Amino acid sequence: MKRNRKVKILATLGPASSDEQMIQKLHEAGADLFRINMSHASHEVMRTLVQRIRAVEARCGRPIGILGDLQGPKLRVGKFAEGKVDLKVGQTFTLDNKDEPGDSTRVFLPHPEILEAVKPGHRLLIDDGKLHLRAEKTDGKSIVTTVVAGTKISDRKGVSLPDTLLAVGVLTDKDRSDLDAVLATGEFDWVALSFVQRPEDLAEVRKIARGRVGLMSKIEKPQALERIDEIIELSDALMVARGDLGVEMPLESVPGLQKQLTRACRRAGKPVVVATQMLESMISAPVPTRAEVSDVATAVFEGADAIMLSAESASGEYPVEAVSTMASIASNVERDPHYSSIIYAQRTPPEATGADAISLAAHQIAETLRLSAIVCYTSSGTTGLRAARERPQVPIIALSPIVQTARRLSVVWGLHCVVTEDATDLDDMVNRACRIVAHEGFGKPGERVIISAGVPLGTPGATNMLRIAYIGSDGMSGI
Ligand code: PGA
Ligand code: MN
Repeated sequence: MKRNRKVKILATLGPASSDEQMIQKLHEAGADLFRINMSHASHEVMRTLVQRIRAVEARCGRPIGILGDLQGPKLRVGKFAEGKVDLKVGQTFTLDNKDEPGDSTRVFLPHPEILEAVKPGHRLLIDDGKLHLRAEKTDGKSIVTTVVAGTKISDRKGVSLPDTLLAVGVLTDKDRSDLDAVLATGEFDWVALSFVQRPEDLAEVRKIARGRVGLMSKIEKPQALERIDEIIELSDALMVARGDLGVEMPLESVPGLQKQLTRACRRAGKPVVVATQMLESMISAPVPTRAEVSDVATAVFEGADAIMLSAESASGEYPVEAVSTMASIASNVERDPHYSSIIYAQRTPPEATGADAISLAAHQIAETLRLSAIVCYTSSGTTGLRAARERPQVPIIALSPIVQTARRLSVVWGLHCVVTEDATDLDDMVNRACRIVAHEGFGKPGERVIISAGVPLGTPGATNMLRIAYIGSDGMSGI
């Protein structure tokens, strides 16, 4: 299956998309990888979904990535005697450590570390920012606040603390058990960490993951933005998690931050996913709004690696339509006459490494000679990432002997990954590349491709040669 677009689609699975037939339909409609949200999926459901995705993969013959998204330290208030209460702007409202039902004067906050970390003046945003409290007095056991805006609060609503650096690690007890279960399947390619605040958060998870999955940092806290370069350095990928980011930061700052994060990732050569509310109205309608189409198009014009669907594919009424709508917006944008010049304007110079110099050269040669494809042999995936960082208009075919590499690269801009054995010698390397390009529908006999590889063959991290080859009439190299 050949996609006619560079940007990838990450679709969240959930009750609306959990049977195998539906997963296959989403994949055929354009989903390149799937997210399993551990905030909602039990371990049993997670394992069933993984099995079904792998069955679809085996049937469709394309590597499919699986991302496990850990809930992270999502804070919530306790319950109310009446389920909910009405508040008045200007009144006093207290959050405390008493595990008793709340009323219109107080509620239990079951996070002792938060009671200690919040200082007078800090904002407490409840229920995605619908209720805004300002801390006035704190004593480690309670936070006395004034209601600044909003009037409603109810059981277990989420609490965001944009001004407070939380002394909590990025993994809660639930996350640790979810991460263990995810890793135990051996089938996940990515794990997403919610509410990353510090580079140390990554180090902690990396010790547990031991290279078995790529780590995707969800950027949804202002504290993460303060040390974003270090966080990118220690992450394998980033997600612009606009849902919580738009609560913790002024909403109007989110588009600029999205651009900043997308560019920083492109510079670093790490994949970036733009997420949340991309086609929100399609949860209950078969067509998107103009504004949503424009939002998806913006992320594509910015050169994001992947765009994500949340409730649209997980629990909405039109999961398949949401994926195909996203796919068609993306391929239309990529055919737009302005697209390549916009992508080109955001290019960043190569780093002084063999892989970068070769990726740049392959890109230039492919464009100068109007070649059909750039083929790169990549065992760990690094060469594939560096080739994608160039953002060439020519298709990139990434060949890897390791299925996990091909799956992990499914989130990366422009890479069409194929699993194939290591080449035995130079002739085999060239023939194999040409055969795969022809077989996958990216080139015809008489057309030419450029191939990058490392010699001696099969040495990871040693990309050091380029070869131009004709596709022969038998799909092999014509020279
Ligand atoms: P979530 O993350 O859907 O897991 O909250 C994405 C976001 O916050 O945008
Ligand atoms: Mn979030």
